[in-house]
Amino acid sequence: MINPVGNQVIVFTEKEMPKVLNYYEGSKITRNAPGVIFAAKTADTSITAYRSGKVLFQGGGADREAARWSGTSTPAVAKTKSTGAKGDILPENFATMSVLGSDETGTGDFFGPITVAACYVSDEKIELVRELGVKDSKQLTDSYMQQIAEDLKQVVPHCVLTLDNAKYNEIQSKGWSQGKMKAVLHNQAIQDVLTQMQPEYPEYILIDQFAERKVYYNHLKNEPAIVQEKVLFSTKAENLHVSVATASILARVAFLEQMDQLSAKAGMTLPKGAGPKVDQIACQIIRKKGEPFLQSITKVHFANTQKALKLVYKK
Ligand code: MN
Repeated sequence: MINPVGNQVIVFTEKEMPKVLNYYEGSKITRNAPGVIFAAKTADTSITAYRSGKVLFQGGGADREAARWSGTSTPAVAKTKSTGAKGDILPENFATMSVLGSDETGTGDFFGPITVAACYVSDEKIELVRELGVKDSKQLTDSYMQQIAEDLKQVVPHCVLTLDNAKYNEIQSKGWSQGKMKAVLHNQAIQDVLTQMQPEYPEYILIDQFAERKVYYNHLKNEPAIVQEKVLFSTKAENLHVSVATASILARVAFLEQMDQLSAKAGMTLPKGAGPKVDQIACQIIRKKGEPFLQSITKVHFANTQKALKLVYKK
């Protein structure tokens, strides 16, 4: 359950307290306030421990964090991760669990869509997926990802969604932020995979974090179905579970496919990103095919549109 203005207090004995502090050691912050012996801040929860034995949990994840400690002095999960990732503290041995992961791509690219993928990798499929070539996705080249994507799709339940430029520009002009678009797409893709898996449910769902939990769920408030059970957020999530690495590959490959199609339509190879090269090509496209065509294959609100227009009228 999400508690947007969470506030929980638990009183610990002298014996229990070190376990609690140790648990949040990786998220420790400095807070000089009277009576405070320890403070930590995770993606969605502030933890403040007092000399009296009281520990205050505040924020969107307060209920969850407090629940971790209620009724038992032995936590169900332990150990902070040491990957430099931000977000929820993951259970120990998370990488070996059955997890549904999701990731997106295309958000920083002027040309082409946003694509989002979700996929479920059960514990017994982790080795197979690694065998098929899923490594840290940042180390994978585009052509390598294209080679392995089809095999991956054969072995894991998955969903890939594409928000094409027409739809993107339509909802963007209605005031949708990219954060909202992503939240809605992640939620939909995850929902789709959960439906495929029924009656099974993953041990956890891990979203490659692009927004704090509270913000993410605020974006989803008008959605008909909102997945909340067992959802965790972390940055660099592709390094934390192979399901997110796989989702990242599937999203990337879908994006590349779209870019190939749009390049064919435009009659030139469309560059990725949003740099000066992109402005140059966009300028050429306006000259050759007109501004409405350019709009049909780009994220119009990016500054590249104005820069390209300036280039067109320069000479
Ligand atoms: Mn990501």
